Amino acid sequence: MKKIAILGSTGSIGTQTLEIVRNYSQELEVLALAAGSSTAKMEEQIREFHPKLAVMWSEDAAKELKERTADLSVEIAYGMEGLLQIAVMEEMDILVTAIVGMIGIRPTIAAIEQGKTIALANKETLVTAGHIIMPLAKKKGVSILPVDSEHSAIFQSLQGAKRKELSKILLTASGGPFRGKKREELADMTVEDALKHPNWSMGRKITIDSATLVNKGLEVMEAKWLFDTDLDQIQVIVHPQSIIHSAVEYVDGGIIAQLGMPDMKLPIQYALFYPDRKPMDTKRVDFYELSQMTFERPDMETFTGLKLAFEAARMGGSMPTVFNAANEMAVSLFLNKKIKFLQIAELIQASMEHHKKVEAPGVEEILAAEAETYEYIRQVVKQA
Ligand code: NAD
Ligand code: MG
Repeated sequence: MKKIAILGSTGSIGTQTLEIVRNYSQELEVLALAAGSSTAKMEEQIREFHPKLAVMWSEDAAKELKERTADLSVEIAYGMEGLLQIAVMEEMDILVTAIVGMIGIRPTIAAIEQGKTIALANKETLVTAGHIIMPLAKKKGVSILPVDSEHSAIFQSLQGAKRKELSKILLTASGGPFRGKKREELADMTVEDALKHPNWSMGRKITIDSATLVNKGLEVMEAKWLFDTDLDQIQVIVHPQSIIHSAVEYVDGGIIAQLGMPDMKLPIQYALFYPDRKPMDTKRVDFYELSQMTFERPDMETFTGLKLAFEAARMGGSMPTVFNAANEMAVSLFLNKKIKFLQIAELIQASMEHHKKVEAPGVEEILAAEAETYEYIRQVVKQA
């Protein structure tokens, strides 16, 4: 039995992880679950999967959950302390980080310190603290198994290869719902328009990130850390059908890619059972039906979020944190209809210009850069 814990169990990745546990209940066991505020969903998950520990973000939500589960023996905790309690559980084999945003940094680091394998979906953590997490994982001999579909594809394509044979990472992107549009058209795009992703059904934040191409920018940084490459070795390729989930090019020009239908359950399951593959009941690629796959260059002049991500990554230090924090806040403002679509990238740019970069920031400095960015945006948006 592999014992797993899931941070963000009620979300898109979290619930799909639990579907896999349901299919493989003889091999996977849920030890702990954490979620933000959805107590009803958490109660359902506790009744089905019997974790020892369940964590809600707020104390009130935890209280409510306690009442809902008064007849059960599950322990209930809350807040960052609760997340950290999960991260260091002795019996845990794998921690699935399926939480959104930088809140994942501290629990991820705590779990690595304890030598726990990480199945990482929470890309914001690597983007902002990759320089801390990757060396620590190496030191502790911990595997960081990617759950993000592109990174899983790269990881799968690298199996059996020697590191020095890798020449390039080919990171594919669907292009999102606004592919082919120009800036004038983007100006009036609504939350509802931006939430209509053509190929993937995901949480709201990452779906907006896909519309701005900020998601691809975060993934470039995520790939740089996971696979220890230079930025110049990562090429973003728009591939609207999302069949090739990403690829690697080797020194002899040979390319190995991973293909499949767009379904996150495959990368999640691959991470949970790595290095094994297990049967999965999912739609298969039918090349007769598909008939063609197409490719384009990303339009970074229109989707400046991607260009800014490359800039932030090149600058390094605390700049990726500012890029990420500005995006997290701007997306939340956009989802609450306080700003317009194009303002997301504008706020990221303004925040980066305003910030004085700190080299090799520690966790406290990362969190300080996050707070500073939030405060800056609060002022800018109030004045607007
Ligand atoms: P989501 O919004 O659907 O779910 C987020 C989960 O985190 C929920 O369970 C929520 O309750 C929980 N959560 C939020 N704030 C919390 C807090 N403060 N404390 C505890 N729990 C909290 O998000 P998602 O789409 O599942 O994405 C999760 C992560 O995975 C993100 O980093 C995203 O970029 C990444 N990712 C998602 C997909 C996808 O298909 N959804 C694909 C690749 C990568
Ligand atoms: Mg992805």
